Amino acid sequence: MSDAGKGAVVTGGGRGIGAAVAEALAVSGVPVVVTARTPAEIDAVADGLRARGRTAFAVVCDVTEPDSVAAMAARAQELLGSVDILVNNAGVARSAPFLKVTLGQWEDVHRVNATGALLVTQAFLPGMLERGWGRIVNVASVASLGGARYITAYAAAKHALIGMARCLADELGGTGVTVNSVCPGYVDTPMTDENIERIAARTGRDADAVRAGLAEMQPGGRLITPREVAYAVMTFMPEEAAALQGSELVVRGGGWGAGPAGEGGAE
Ligand code: NDP
Repeated sequence: MSDAGKGAVVTGGGRGIGAAVAEALAVSGVPVVVTARTPAEIDAVADGLRARGRTAFAVVCDVTEPDSVAAMAARAQELLGSVDILVNNAGVARSAPFLKVTLGQWEDVHRVNATGALLVTQAFLPGMLERGWGRIVNVASVASLGGARYITAYAAAKHALIGMARCLADELGGTGVTVNSVCPGYVDTPMTDENIERIAARTGRDADAVRAGLAEMQPGGRLITPREVAYAVMTFMPEEAAALQGSELVVRGGGWGAGPAGEGGAE
């Protein structure tokens, strides 16, 4: 990859997709700051990468808090020299039938999945524009592109995330900075484990059976792996990807025949 040496920040990098993205970047030679709220998780990811001879740092950040984002951005710039790659991956999922969506749930999901990405992007974009090179990738969802029952707040926030990227892309033409999104179906991560536990508790079904059912519902008949999503994220990194601007890469292992199922728990 021609961007070796450039610095990257991955939000929500302590586990799941974010940890796999941090690994893919670090292994390709990019120094990485791994950030999330739980110190033990981001430390474990950064320590693991350093043990493999890669450059990685852990910096705590809550993407919903402007002061926390500003402090993380300053520290990341200090550690990396410059931040040229940003992966907005931090996210939370909640599910409820439409009439049971609470204001708190709606606002929490929007603050992390949409507002958080806005704040972190605003922190790093000026430097990228100044240097005339940057790659911003948002980890969106198939729920950014379609709806499904019980995931109203999540799908709305993920639609907001993709709308933000489409608008920003329009401002970025000719700047050397790109913004794109990946849209995974169900991925085998702690978020999906929690979702499975929730469905199992609600329906009284066995968690393994719920997991198998979820996998079967996917167009490819299985859950996507975090590494497969990381590979999609990496697609946007090379110089040759400069014309990929405001695009969405769907990572779901199959077509749309099964409908736009989201990952909030369509049961
Ligand atoms: P996980 O729950 O496994 O990981 C989420 C990460 O986000 C954690 O590191 C978590 O760390 C971090 N995070 C959550 N809230 C905040 C916050 N306020 N500030 C900073 N970091 C935060 O989720 P996944 O790996 O599954 O998901 C990653 C992304 O991919 C999310 O945006 C999700 O919506 C999206 N996605 C997931 C799919 C799936 O099926 N799993 C499918 C499609 C998209 P901490 O709690 O320590 O802050």
